[in-house]
Amino acid sequence: MKKIPISETINKIGQEVELFGWVDSKRDHKKIVFLDLRDRTGIVQVVGDEKFKEISTEDVVKIIGVVKERPEKLKNNKILTGGIEIEAREFEILNKTNPLPLPVNTDGYEIDEEVRLKYRYLDLRRPRMYKNLALRSKFIDLIRQYLFKKDFLEIETPILSETTPEGARDFIVPSRLQPGKFYALPQSPQQYKQLLMVGGVEKYFQIARCFRDEDPRADRAYGEFTQLDLEMSFVKREDVMALIESMVIDVYEKLKIPIKQKPFPVFTYQEAIKKFGADRFDLRTPEEKEKNIQAFAWVIDFPFFEKTEDDGWTFTHNPFSSPKPEFMEYLLNKRNIPNILTTQYDLVCNGYEVGGGSIRNHRPEGLKAVFEIMGLSENEIEQKFGHMIEALGYGAPPHGGMAPGLDRMLTCITGEKNLREVIPMPMTSGGRTAIMKAPSQIKEDKLKELGIRLR
Ligand code: ASP
Repeated sequence: MKKIPISETINKIGQEVELFGWVDSKRDHKKIVFLDLRDRTGIVQVVGDEKFKEISTEDVVKIIGVVKERPEKLKNNKILTGGIEIEAREFEILNKTNPLPLPVNTDGYEIDEEVRLKYRYLDLRRPRMYKNLALRSKFIDLIRQYLFKKDFLEIETPILSETTPEGARDFIVPSRLQPGKFYALPQSPQQYKQLLMVGGVEKYFQIARCFRDEDPRADRAYGEFTQLDLEMSFVKREDVMALIESMVIDVYEKLKIPIKQKPFPVFTYQEAIKKFGADRFDLRTPEEKEKNIQAFAWVIDFPFFEKTEDDGWTFTHNPFSSPKPEFMEYLLNKRNIPNILTTQYDLVCNGYEVGGGSIRNHRPEGLKAVFEIMGLSENEIEQKFGHMIEALGYGAPPHGGMAPGLDRMLTCITGEKNLREVIPMPMTSGGRTAIMKAPSQIKEDKLKELGIRLR
């Protein structure tokens, strides 16, 4: 006899089966005791005798029993296994549980999130959470399949690195070998992926973790999040947009998730502001919202720069972007700065920005001009970005890319309200890790080793 998943019991009527799982619930009818046994594939009713009394909910058990068809009037066609039950012959408690600190057989929305995250390993037992994890895995699988078919390479880039500006604060890691010096965790692989283009890779992607120390916001995950990071050589804006759009359509069709409009409508930034008052907007009707239809749109032609508080300039999206070709002369001569439009394209879905990208400055003088407009001194530019400017000087191909945010797309697909519902082990909104207690204090001798004294 072979162990089978619960979902397969329906094909085994009359046969003896071996099942493993958790006891989802127990109903004690004195001489007969019913259990609902749960594994990741579903739930099935198990009928046992008084010996079952020693079993409690959430114990891990092995059950050997015969699959029986239920009498017609006892069938429950709301669940997959509702037409059958398992008549137990033997059972073994593989691990007796302590009382659980939170219920796991509800959808969980009613429970305080801090508690759910402290006990995330239990919270994940909810079928809803398993479904989200499984969807995430399938989603990434389909993205990979699509991109491999288009000859992309999947390449990892360093995590301990130098700062890459994406408009947030960096997470900093002290160096032991060089006391007083620090690594920064990447806010995105932006610089490395461009350097891969200089390296002749031409088509790169990565399911990349990005780290941004931003003030917690309701619609963001604090600390780290996952992007599909992608870069291509010898492309124009429209080529990257077309690739991403066809990938999204392919993946969503395979997952049977309806998309409102194909090809995706395109709005300029000006049009979007005029029409929706914002550069992220929801194109769905109330009925379409009800049906959880995904409404994608592109936004293009953003201004490159915006004023800072102290009357200088900063980038609106990405300092590594190239302006639209017709504005290159303005950039290089630092003229008409507010009128310069960037090649940036943002993908919007159901009211959220789900990703952005651009064609990059592949010539050193373009990138340098961006930093000069931002008021960086020659010295600062050399210090922070000298390696990029140098690299672009060695025959960098024209290139561009994008980075759709996977957490956000999955939140839209599932119709969940909160990004944390689709992230396996997210931080709390206050920035504490799930389950473990980071950030935490470290011992004095560790600090000493790092040459750090706390104030
Ligand atoms: N690095 C950008 C970001 O993280 C995306 C890109 O331009 O490829 O938003």
